[in-house]
Amino acid sequence: MEFRRPSLFLFLFINQVFISVQSKEQVLLDMRASGSELGWLTLPYENGWEIVQTVVNGSLYYTYSVCSIESTEQDNWLRTTFIQRRPGTTRVSVELRFIVRDCNTFDGASVACKETFNLFISEADADVGTNFRKGQFRKVATIAPDEVTRGRVLKVNTETRTVGPLSKKGFYLAFQDMGTCVALLSVRVYYKTCPSTVQSLATFPETVADALRGVEGACVENAVSQATPRIYCTAEGEWVVPVGQCQCLSGYETTGDSCQACKPGYFKPSESSELCQVCPDNTKPSMAGATECQCEEGFFRSPSDPPTSPCSAPPSAPLDLTSTTLSAEGRLQLSWSPPLVTGGRSDLTYSVVCEHCDGGLCIPCGEKIHFEPGSTDLQDTTVIVTDLDSHLNYTFTVEAFSGVSQYSTERPISTITTGLDYTDPPKVTLIHLDDRSPSSLSLSWTLSRRPPAHISHRYELMYRRKDDDGERGVTTYRVLILEKNSVQIDDLIPNTTYLFKVQALSPDGSPGSYSMEHEFHTSPAEFQIQNNSTMVMGAVVGVAVILLIVVAVLLLRKRRLSSRGRGGPEDPYFSTDQLKPLSYVDPHMYEDPNIAIQKFVTEIDPNAISKQKVIGVGEFGEVFRGVMKTPVRGEVAVAIKTLKPGYSEKQRQDFLSEASIMGQFSHPNIIRLEGVVTKFKHAMIVTEYMENGALDTYLKDRDGEIPSYQLVGMLRGIAAGMKYLSDMSYVHRDLAARNVLVNSNLECKVSDFGLSRVLEDDAEGTYTTRGGKIPIRWTAPEAIAYRKFTSASDVWSFGIVMWEVMAFGERPYWDMSNHEVMKAINEAFRLPAPMDCPSAIYQLMLQCWQHDRSKRPRFTDIVNILDKLLRSPESLKTIADFDPRVSIRLPSTSGCDGTMFRSVPEWLESIKMSQYNESFARAGITTMEQVLALRHEDIRNIGVRLPGHMKRIAYSILGLKDETSSLSVFAV
Ligand code: AMP
Repeated sequence: MEFRRPSLFLFLFINQVFISVQSKEQVLLDMRASGSELGWLTLPYENGWEIVQTVVNGSLYYTYSVCSIESTEQDNWLRTTFIQRRPGTTRVSVELRFIVRDCNTFDGASVACKETFNLFISEADADVGTNFRKGQFRKVATIAPDEVTRGRVLKVNTETRTVGPLSKKGFYLAFQDMGTCVALLSVRVYYKTCPSTVQSLATFPETVADALRGVEGACVENAVSQATPRIYCTAEGEWVVPVGQCQCLSGYETTGDSCQACKPGYFKPSESSELCQVCPDNTKPSMAGATECQCEEGFFRSPSDPPTSPCSAPPSAPLDLTSTTLSAEGRLQLSWSPPLVTGGRSDLTYSVVCEHCDGGLCIPCGEKIHFEPGSTDLQDTTVIVTDLDSHLNYTFTVEAFSGVSQYSTERPISTITTGLDYTDPPKVTLIHLDDRSPSSLSLSWTLSRRPPAHISHRYELMYRRKDDDGERGVTTYRVLILEKNSVQIDDLIPNTTYLFKVQALSPDGSPGSYSMEHEFHTSPAEFQIQNNSTMVMGAVVGVAVILLIVVAVLLLRKRRLSSRGRGGPEDPYFSTDQLKPLSYVDPHMYEDPNIAIQKFVTEIDPNAISKQKVIGVGEFGEVFRGVMKTPVRGEVAVAIKTLKPGYSEKQRQDFLSEASIMGQFSHPNIIRLEGVVTKFKHAMIVTEYMENGALDTYLKDRDGEIPSYQLVGMLRGIAAGMKYLSDMSYVHRDLAARNVLVNSNLECKVSDFGLSRVLEDDAEGTYTTRGGKIPIRWTAPEAIAYRKFTSASDVWSFGIVMWEVMAFGERPYWDMSNHEVMKAINEAFRLPAPMDCPSAIYQLMLQCWQHDRSKRPRFTDIVNILDKLLRSPESLKTIADFDPRVSIRLPSTSGCDGTMFRSVPEWLESIKMSQYNESFARAGITTMEQVLALRHEDIRNIGVRLPGHMKRIAYSILGLKDETSSLSVFAV
């Protein structure tokens, strides 16, 4: 039973896994070898079996023979001597060679004659000597000849019988003759063994082969196997089916049936059936039995290298490190060649480090600069460095790495100190009017990039009077070469428009390109002359200025500071804080408002004015574009606000009160009043003409087209205008992008100063619970709640204007109702950052929306902050997080209840992108499912090219996808 499964296995595979090891016979008894000295017992004694010498086929044999065939009832026994059983053997083979005479050859004796005899066995634990008892024997077999002998030629038969199972220490065999003429030539008793053997590097002991038997072996010296090696010994004495492979240990290889140590110069790294290998490159020659070959001096293996790999050297430094300034702003490309010594490795990488070094002291550049695709693990030999400051020098260190770098004590580095090296000087992007008087203009300008610290640019400024067309068609400019980016130009004509353009010059004097032409207007001299009170004030200020100058000069001397300052707005001794402007006077303070008009406003001859085209409609009537003839400036473009016919005296006074407020202001960022017509039937207010109209519509038409830097420049202008108003103690109450006008130089000017306007004129005005009309979305909570209008509430509105500007004229709080807006603001929610809004700008908005008005920045702070940001444009590069989930509040989403739009046109309309209806249809995008699957490039392929439109559509899709959006995402 035990071997049933192996034997089945064995039969299946015996042909394949036959191991040809000869079986061995262990002989226990050999009758022939004993010759005549057998000493076997016979019974009956002297009758029956007897020893006879016989020559068979020419050989002499001592045989036991019997031939008692004449009488019946023969019972002749022949018993062997005691045969010892070897421990472990349970069966033995008995081989008999014998001759049987044919009964037919005996005349008349055929009745008693037989031709077979019997084999018996009796087991015993000890030799019983001559004590032979037949009853103790059991029959094993009847032995019959294959051939009987008839004539002289003797027919020798060989028969083998297996006897067992045996259990006692020994046994006797006996042969019973019952009347046969038989001669036993030979009796051989033996058992078979599977001889001791080595199979697959495992040794197996000699094993008795009496049935199929599994034998456990052991691996030869220096070999191991995972499972105990086994083999089977068959009953025939053959080894079959070895199981479990022994393998030579590392450092040893199979040689025949043993494991021999690897020869010197060879190695074997693991237990395997493989042979030893020659030591790889860059290794020391190994000793005998080596499991690996040690690296030569200066060569290494990385922890991930297999011991079979050659040893490699750390790389040398990258070669030919160069930098190229790219045309895109603030970008530089570093390139290098692979090191001379790669160490024979293919896993080379590079890392780049940026530092600012000065006199051997280096500090990291920090997180402001970025690397594309990254600064470590670079596989290519180029990297692009972005967000660099053009006026700084950088030290870049490129280091080569490989898998064996950690073993090297030297760092393979190449270093380059470089900066942005623009071949052309920076462009002048915007000219600002910092201050003006009747005879002078103070200008400053901003550059497309900061020049490197070591390069000092000069500037060429050209200007002329706008109405001076020169002689014989030749326009004459005055040209100034300037060392810094600001100037005060004196000796100008009052109330005159001048044209300016500036270009930067590189250090060698080669020019860049001119900025756009900017127009600036000197303040009118008439204004001061016509108003006695203003003259008095002017005189007071003049004395104050002289006093201040004296104090300043004394201070300057004391501090031994030499200054050629012209007293511009940057000059600390002439700051506007010390030169407090006049306070605004409320026209309603006058009993007769007409007196206020006479005081603050220039009366214009109606014949000097001609209307050209209606450009808008105000509360009191149409607004025209027109021209005004002036004695000094010639014809100037103006906007003319008219009072519609049929007005009441109260309406006329309200209409003109805006002029009497505006007439008190003189600032480049406040709409300038040219004058009024009051004497004529149709009253008119004449202001400077702003070519680009209201700021909100201007931005809506250019969604996404204006860079943030320029938007921030516009905000700076509005803030400067508001600072002026707050310095004048004037509270605007209706600051909003719709009330800011933009001229052809993209300068922004605050307008709309009507006293009643906040209450009645503005379409955004809403009646509050207290009955007044207030533009809720733009108004600070305290002003809504208890009419606390202050410059701090104007700052809140300025925050909303910042948002409108950065969102390209988007409606604040989108489609939320005024009630929802008030509720949200009181619950501390604030507008989220517009798309692509610089983080610093959004932070400033949030400051403007502080609930506690004393915590809001003042306009003077706001101007300073914006100036600072504009001076370092890289500070605008960090973009405030735009959470697409915020778009739940954009008109671009499916609405608060999450229902989908029914059609693509309906969706496009909701995000004000209906102009793309046809493009979507043409591209086959007709269902909202298709819309949801659109990717950026798909949107572009449909034909949406403008970045602002791209973003609006893409963000809307993101918003549509986001079902989990929450209403409270812009809580602060
Ligand atoms: P207002 O009554 O001041 O709100 O003016 C109504 C509209 O007329 C404004 O929205 C502008 O589109 C236009 N407008 C008013 N003043 C000017 C100006 N000085 N230059 C150009 N357009 C103006």
